[in-house]
Amino acid sequence: MKVLKVDHIGIAVNSIEEVKKLYTDILGLLQTGSETVAEQKVTTAFFPVGDTEVELLESTSPDGPIGKFIEAKGQGVQHIAFRVENIEQALEELKAKGVRLIDEKPRKGAGGAKIAFLHPKSTFGVLVELSER
Ligand code: ZN
Repeated sequence: MKVLKVDHIGIAVNSIEEVKKLYTDILGLLQTGSETVAEQKVTTAFFPVGDTEVELLESTSPDGPIGKFIEAKGQGVQHIAFRVENIEQALEELKAKGVRLIDEKPRKGAGGAKIAFLHPKSTFGVLVELSER
C-alpha cells in the first residue's frame, strides 16, 4: 500500500457555526465546503491548510459516532486521515498484516471520497481513516 499524505485531521465540535470563527477570522483559513453525511449522522466543514485540511465534525444526532465521541471525551481531535492510492488494496494488505479494521470495505465519505476506518486498538489509540479520492 502507498500512503500519499495526511489527507485531513478530523476535529469533533459541538457547533461548526461557533468554532469556525477560530479557523477563519482568527487563523485566517478559508472554508471550502460543508456537507452532511446522513449515514454517519454528521455535518462536516473543510478548511484547507497547505497540502492538507482541517475537517470539523458536528453531530446531527446524539447517538451518532461524533455525538458519542464528544459525550465520552469532549470536543477535540477525533481522527487522522491518510490518503492512499488504492483503498481496497490497502485494506486487504492491512488485514493480512493483522490490523483490526472497523470497515472491511470502503464506504462513501464527504466530498465523494472512499473512506474506511482502522480500529484504534490496532493503531495505539489513534482513530485512523484511510481516504481515496
Ligand atoms: Zn475524516
